[in-house]
Amino acid sequence: MTDDGIRLHSVTRRFGSGSTAVTALDGVSLAFSRGTFTAVMGPSGSGKSTLLQCAAGLDRPTSGSVAVGGTELTTLSETRLTLLRRKRIGFVFQAFNLLPSLTAEQNVALPLRLAGRRPKKAQVREVLHRVGLGDRARHRPTELSGGQQQRVALARALITRPDVLFGDEPTGALDSRTGREVLTLLRGMVDRDGQTVVMVTHDPVAASYADRVVFLVDGRVNGELRGAVAGDIAAHVTKLEAAPC
Ligand code: ADP
Ligand code: MG
Repeated sequence: MTDDGIRLHSVTRRFGSGSTAVTALDGVSLAFSRGTFTAVMGPSGSGKSTLLQCAAGLDRPTSGSVAVGGTELTTLSETRLTLLRRKRIGFVFQAFNLLPSLTAEQNVALPLRLAGRRPKKAQVREVLHRVGLGDRARHRPTELSGGQQQRVALARALITRPDVLFGDEPTGALDSRTGREVLTLLRGMVDRDGQTVVMVTHDPVAASYADRVVFLVDGRVNGELRGAVAGDIAAHVTKLEAAPC
């Protein structure tokens, strides 16, 4: 793989110490190549969120390495890491985390303001247009549906043109039809713009939008499927859940 994707090598993340210590990630090695769409699945508590947080530079592994576009994150200072995150990483969550007092366009412009840049109106409108919300720029979150709010969150994550877009159950709070609209949008970004997307999901249908599904069990990678349909993914999930501990 070229060095412009994300590469995790032997990443371990422990929380706490002594008898209450939890190993959330246990020697995970994975690469997410540029322009690919990866889904991460696994039982609750298997380390999915921790994996995303470590890959996105929001959390630091206890050991192992994480490289984004060839830059090793684990040795960066907090300041350099924050700068890299702002420039190269986009993140959306299950709860959309929009600021309720700001309009859609103000929410979308926020990352640029935080980076000390003056957002250009045309740039903000263009990214809102890309997520199909060109006509909702002046609306506040409470005036938008759940699917529209998540699309504002997507636009906010995309305004800095990140190398990688991470989603931690981005469709988890949406009904299936609205969830599918968001997934179609993500798929289109990968296919049209070469966006790299890594998404945690519980839903085999959501995962089937990805090129590849990586399964985590007890903080370890436990197989993967490529180009699988929802039925195959669901069958794999059932098999993992049935496996003895
Ligand atoms: P998932 O997203 O797959 O449900 P998580 O990555 O959130 O799993 O959590 C993996 C394990 O790490 C769980 O046992 C969880 O309780 C533990 N964990 C996650 N974050 C923390 C934390 N900040 N402090 C202590 N334990 C944590
Ligand atoms: Mg989680």
